[in-house]
Amino acid sequence: MLNDMNETNNTAIIVAAGSGSRLASDIPKQFLQLRSVEILAYSVQTFLAHPRINEVIIVTSSDYLKHVTDQYQDCKVVIGGKTRQDSVFNGLEACAPDTEHVLVHDAARPLVPSRIIDACLSELKTSHGVAPTIKPVDSMVELKGNTFRNLQRDNLRIIQTPQCFHIDVLKAAHATSKTDTDEIGLVKQSNSQALLSFIDGAPASMKVTRPIDLEIIEIYLRNIE
Ligand code: C5P
Repeated sequence: MLNDMNETNNTAIIVAAGSGSRLASDIPKQFLQLRSVEILAYSVQTFLAHPRINEVIIVTSSDYLKHVTDQYQDCKVVIGGKTRQDSVFNGLEACAPDTEHVLVHDAARPLVPSRIIDACLSELKTSHGVAPTIKPVDSMVELKGNTFRNLQRDNLRIIQTPQCFHIDVLKAAHATSKTDTDEIGLVKQSNSQALLSFIDGAPASMKVTRPIDLEIIEIYLRNIE
């Protein structure tokens, strides 16, 4: 399953079927505009332009199916499910039969750097799955009711996307009854033998969640230029 070959068939699945928005907007965050370009378009463009990505699949809701199909004609478009995990499952089902690696990315993270895609694909030569992470800079506690305990910040990581896998490993995890909020958690739960690893993520690859995030991402964009 693991190999040293450089040429593999790699599919990006961009999950954009969420309806939730804490941005005080009726429009799901992936369809809001940043500099007159919708947020989804940024990551789609990055994956389409990457020389090692063979296909890009966008998973969206039925409400946005026509819009996404019209706007992203270089991508496959499929309908998502009730949970993020359901949406990823539908994306996996749509992958080309010769896909070896899948990179699952949140549409709500517009600024994924191309070098993170390279680093994840390199890591898959020796791992079954990999995710980019960020070290927390603040002190961290775990709250339980009215009590809390301090956590060792050095041992903690914030997990970003793309979360990348050998496709057979991720499909096998989806075939179990386990559920999780992300792919690396799902694979860890369902396969104790899986070799999972982490690489350094990028602060700019933050997920748009709060209104101020759009302003922060605008600052990152100014620095990228
Ligand atoms: O809600 P949250 O920010 O955790 O969602 C992460 C990503 O998963 C978003 O890009 C969202 O569109 C996607 N998602 C999905 N299908 C769902 C729920 C979320 O594709 N049912």
